[in-house]
Amino acid sequence: MKVKNLREILKQEPAVNLLANAFQKNRLSHAYLFTGPKGVGKETTAWAFLFHLFCEKDKENPCGECKACKKIEKEIHPDIRILYPEKKEITIGQIRETIYFLRYRPLEAEYKIIFIKEADKINLEAGNALLKSLEEPPPYVIFILISENFSKLLPTIVSRSQIVRFRSLPKEVIKEFLKKKFLFEEKVAETLAEISFGSIGKAVTIAEKGILEELNSFVKAGFSNSPLKKFKVAERFSSFLPEVLDEFFYILSIWVLRSYLKEKIDYPYPQAFPEETFKGDPYLAIRAIYEVKNAFEFYVNPELAFYHLLNTLFTTS
Ligand SMILES: [Zn+2]
Repeated sequence: MKVKNLREILKQEPAVNLLANAFQKNRLSHAYLFTGPKGVGKETTAWAFLFHLFCEKDKENPCGECKACKKIEKEIHPDIRILYPEKKEITIGQIRETIYFLRYRPLEAEYKIIFIKEADKINLEAGNALLKSLEEPPPYVIFILISENFSKLLPTIVSRSQIVRFRSLPKEVIKEFLKKKFLFEEKVAETLAEISFGSIGKAVTIAEKGILEELNSFVKAGFSNSPLKKFKVAERFSSFLPEVLDEFFYILSIWVLRSYLKEKIDYPYPQAFPEETFKGDPYLAIRAIYEVKNAFEFYVNPELAFYHLLNTLFTTS
């Protein structure tokens, strides 16, 4: 379920106030550039903003029930077009289709929205084509561009957009959110909040995919003396989706580093991390993790890669 009201966005007051003001005073910009770290609410806020703009019953407090709200929820509203990189870029073809889409007035709403995710992936040719629409858009058009790194965007695109900044979230906010949403006990919520560095999106992915539990089973298998147990874990991990693997490698690296810090300077170790800490050389361990992570891009047999990683990490100790 999407957040339908800007007032429910967590701890992004400057961004929310800017949008709410523009909306209430009917001084909407033709292009907004939402920028800030990954997983802090940029997309969530963009969708909430659209509920306010499109709701047919109550624009102050979007209802979630009307035809427009339901279509936004399902991302099938005919006046909203979502662009994101196909393969690795947003291409000229996608922008041309968008320009065509903008030629006609909205079908059901007051506005036509172009929602561009990962806007920094617009390639040069596409960016130049987009510029013209940004310069003289039809009056009913609003662009929402989302980017973690707007320094990678064409400066001419940035200068034609109103910048809406998002910031990292305080650890306490993430912790309370996790406790409320997932009913986690204190130490799990605390650990997840701590290792997600202000990104609620990261914390939620790690929570939803059970990656903390996976770390525990991986470490347990690693410290066991049973090759069979190791192989079974390797087999299971080899079936994970890329996004899960990314977070797993991330959390495994954090475990190595935090183990090292605990050992060296008695730095507090996350409570929900495996009881056993990593004992080897952290530099070699991180390098091994990095190598395995890269190997996946070259279609190495994933079971073997994980089995190898288990042996490398846990025999240095
Ligand atoms: Zn509604």
